[in-house]
Amino acid sequence: MDCYHENLVEKRIEYLTLNSKFIYTGLECSDCGATLWNSDTDRKFNSWLEKLYKSDREKFQIQFGLSKNTISCIKKISEPFPGVGISALFKAIVAIYLELGPNTTFQKIINKVIEGEVYRSFRVRGKDRFKIQFKPMPLMEINSMAEFFDETPAQFVEEGILIILSIFVENDQKLKDFWEENIKNKLNALLKVA
Ligand SMILES: [Zn+2]
Repeated sequence: MDCYHENLVEKRIEYLTLNSKFIYTGLECSDCGATLWNSDTDRKFNSWLEKLYKSDREKFQIQFGLSKNTISCIKKISEPFPGVGISALFKAIVAIYLELGPNTTFQKIINKVIEGEVYRSFRVRGKDRFKIQFKPMPLMEINSMAEFFDETPAQFVEEGILIILSIFVENDQKLKDFWEENIKNKLNALLKVA
């Protein structure tokens, strides 16, 4: 039987995320033990997250590896954006990957891409390591998506970069159109804001 959470009591609640404890006073159902996450919790959580971001930057960094071949292709993408560093480019690519994520056309594109030569060629061994620091919101989003796909955040980020990059490189009209219509303008918007 579903619980309607009619008997809510105020309690000290601990929520574990980013290997840290977010401790707050919130509402818990005394019948089923569910905690009620409302706008007040949201506000408290965001301010806790901001504090954590200021005090422990390492928790917001993700380290991942990319092959040399991948990196030289990344440099091609960044050509229209002189002065934009590689970490800004990575962050923009990951932001686009997150934004497109649930889109069903994008899911079809991903399926096409991962069967292609280019994607496979990017996934070779021998990688250069990168460490990128994300802002709290994208980081939380990366973590929950990674959890959903049963991957580490590093795997999720790496995968996202390889997929977006493969769309750019593959010689396939459908993928080229998708790049032109869905990625190029987003990349411009994210990177040309000076
Ligand atoms: Zn309940």
